[in-house]
Amino acid sequence: MSEEHAYDLVILGGGPAGMAAAIYAARANLKTIVLESNITGGLVNSTYIVENFPTYPEIHGMKLMEKMREHVDSLNIEVEEICEVEKLELEGPIKRITTDGGVYTAVAVILATGRKPIPLETPTEAEQVHWCAICDGMAYKDKHVLVVGGGNSAFDEALYMLSIGIARITLVEMMPRYFAAPSTQEQLFKCSDGKAEGFTSTKVTDLVVEDGKLTGAVLQHTETGEERTIPVDGVFVFLGQSPNNDLFKDQIELNAQGYIKTDRDMNTSLPGVFGAGDINEKSYRQITTAMADGTIAALAAQRYVREQKASCSA
Ligand SMILES: Cc1cc2nc3c(=O)[nH]c(=O)nc-3n(C[C@H](O)[C@H](O)[C@H](O)COP(=O)(O)OP(=O)(O)OC[C@H]3O[C@@H](n4cnc5c(N)ncnc54)[C@H](O)[C@@H]3O)c2cc1C
Repeated sequence: MSEEHAYDLVILGGGPAGMAAAIYAARANLKTIVLESNITGGLVNSTYIVENFPTYPEIHGMKLMEKMREHVDSLNIEVEEICEVEKLELEGPIKRITTDGGVYTAVAVILATGRKPIPLETPTEAEQVHWCAICDGMAYKDKHVLVVGGGNSAFDEALYMLSIGIARITLVEMMPRYFAAPSTQEQLFKCSDGKAEGFTSTKVTDLVVEDGKLTGAVLQHTETGEERTIPVDGVFVFLGQSPNNDLFKDQIELNAQGYIKTDRDMNTSLPGVFGAGDINEKSYRQITTAMADGTIAALAAQRYVREQKASCSA
């Protein structure tokens, strides 16, 4: 497809921020498309149970995002999934978005690309390294899994894996202490019938792969330097998240950590370009805060598009 497709608004990212923005944009009558590199739903797709989304005291993350997608579809909003954006040109009154499927132009763009997991850097790579227990945990039923990281995500995902029948969990944290809530730590180490063990001041320095299959992990004590190899079948990494900013990091102002700087209306440093959700510099990253950003960005984009069109026709 080489022809250009013209839109009022292109939204990059179909997580809670992008989906909320799409709903508000459609209701404001903007010709809108959502471009999503994966399937819509964002990080919530890999959250087992969401317990803090007003309306549902408890809902499976993927189910919540299915409902959000139904709402978007009911408004006939165009959504392109598995869409790779190859080039983003954000300067000037008309923005150009080149994807593997064609070229889109837009008066305004909302960047809602969220965050991605920080990878485990080891000299040896293995297919059995994962970032989402809900997506990939079941393959390790009755097996031994290494969990890397000592924050809430690592402990929550370890507890989830025990609940689906993983036989044994070894959890390692590089720092001298864990950062997860004490009650979660207690649940994992004291209430798991000895199926879970943990080590602080311990990092993974390499993986052992035999015939393409992971068989072990090399652990090093960060203070003594002592190394040992433990047998494991799979590794789940929870080292935090980093911003998905590769496409625009040289075009708009970011903070030192790579998050988009916006004003209260989600304007970025470029006119007609808005940031929303986890990709923004902010203190609290939740589904509701991402949706609030998406709402504001769409309303501000609607005003911007109207003003641009009025100035063109004047
Ligand atoms: C383990 C874990 C558990 C959590 N649990 C909760 C919870 O219980 N309750 C809660 O409120 N919050 C929770 N959160 C936080 C919540 O998931 C996020 O705040 C929320 O998903 C942010 O939404 P977003 O739309 O900004 O980003 P994301 O959800 O990250 O969505 C961004 C989307 O953009 C897409 N994308 C990225 N790059 C591109 C590109 N170049 N082109 C097109 N698309 C792109 C991605 O594929 C993704 O679909 C949790 C987070 C984690 C990591």
